[in-house]
Amino acid sequence: MAKKEFKAESKRLLEMMINSIYTQREIFLRELISNASDAIDKIYYKALADEGLVFNKEDYYIKVTADKASRTLTISDTGIGMTQEELENNLGIIANSGSFAFKKDNEAKDGHNIIGQFGVGFYSAFMVADDVTVVSKALGSDQAFKWESQGADGYTIEPAEKDAIGTEITLKIKSNTEDDNYDEFLEEYRLKSIIKKYSDFIRFPIKMDITGS
Ligand code: ADP
Ligand code: MG
Repeated sequence: MAKKEFKAESKRLLEMMINSIYTQREIFLRELISNASDAIDKIYYKALADEGLVFNKEDYYIKVTADKASRTLTISDTGIGMTQEELENNLGIIANSGSFAFKKDNEAKDGHNIIGQFGVGFYSAFMVADDVTVVSKALGSDQAFKWESQGADGYTIEPAEKDAIGTEITLKIKSNTEDDNYDEFLEEYRLKSIIKKYSDFIRFPIKMDITGS
C-alpha cells in the first residue's frame, strides 16, 4: 500500500517535536497511557448505558510489555478501539488531536516543568521510537487495522489480525547512539518509575510484562 503523507502542518510539528521536546522524552509513556485510559473510559461508559454490552471490571486494563531482545515496547488497552477511518483521522493529522495543547491543570506553575504541562499526545512516541505500529479493532467491528509510521514521512494503513476489541501500540525503541541511550525505556524499574510519576491517578490497572535480556 502506498505511503500516505501527513498534512504539512503535522509534518512540521512532528519534526519539531522529535527534535526539540526531547529533554523530557519519558513523557511519551504518560501520553500513551492517558490515551489508553481515555479509550477504556469510552467503552466503559458505553457498556454502562447499553444493556447489550456486558463487561466486568477485570476486562478493563492497560498492559505495558517490553521485549529487550526485539527492542519493542508495547502499550495495549481493552478500550473502544479505532476503525480504519479513525486511525486515519486521529493519527494522521496532528492538528486534529489535542496534541500540543496546553493542559489546563497547572501543577508546576514555577515553570521548571513547562514541558510536562503540554499534552503532546500520540506523536511523542517518536521521541523514543523509530517505528510505531498501532493495531486496533473498534467496538462493533469485525476487522482490525494496522497503522504504521517511521515518523515525519508518512504512514500506512492495512487490514490486520486482532481478536479482542482495543488497541495495541508497539514502539520499536531507537538504537543507542554515542550521545543517546534509549535502553532505559525497556527496563522494568525505569518504566515503573515513569508510570508512578505521571500515571498514578489512572483508574484502570496497569499491568507489566518484561522479557528478553
Ligand atoms: P488527544 O488525546 O489529546 O486527543 P492524542 O494525540 O494523544 O490527542 O491522540 C489523538 C487521538 O487518537 C485521540 O483523541 C483518540 O481519538 C485517538 N487515540 C489515540 N490513542 C488511542 C487508543 N489507545 N485507543 C483509541 N483511540 C486512541
Ligand atoms: Mg492524548
